[in-house]
Amino acid sequence: MPLRTDTLALPGLQLSPGEGRRLDLITAPAPLELGGERYRVVPQLVPIGLELSLTTGSGYALRVRFSAGVEGPCMRCLEAAVVTVDVDAREVSQPGGVEELDSPYLADGVLDISAWSHDALALALPATVLCRPDCAGLCPECGANLNAAGAEHHHEPPRDPRLQALSEIVVKPPLDR
Ligand SMILES: [Zn+2]
Ligand SMILES: [Zn+2]
Repeated sequence: MPLRTDTLALPGLQLSPGEGRRLDLITAPAPLELGGERYRVVPQLVPIGLELSLTTGSGYALRVRFSAGVEGPCMRCLEAAVVTVDVDAREVSQPGGVEELDSPYLADGVLDISAWSHDALALALPATVLCRPDCAGLCPECGANLNAAGAEHHHEPPRDPRLQALSEIVVKPPLDR
């Protein structure tokens, strides 16, 4: 079992320009916040594949791949939901290059794997975390879970007071001729 690695000092790998390496590591992405709710990463320790190569300009080309899930409230019905995604993210860091080629996860040769995998996981997630794709959500009238209550759950529409008044008018039978 690989050791847990949240940060990695890249110069310690002693790559020569153009050389690449693949590492199998385990990291712990921080919990995510989506729509004001907290989502736990499952499993807590995520096996990742990290590919890195030293470019000829003594920068790094990096790629991380893993599968992980997040666990938290369904955004429709608030029951427990788990969504699993495949993450494949790349970063390039080229010192002295333009700003876009400056990875926010690499500072002084130290790669912040935990922060990168957290952000990459957040980006790979669907816009909504649901307990199931067709979650029916909660009844807007009474808050009942419509997955459990079923399609027949409904409320009588509120009565229109004008119709109420009409219904109180005594309907007289037609006069006999
Ligand atoms: Zn749901
Ligand atoms: Zn209801």
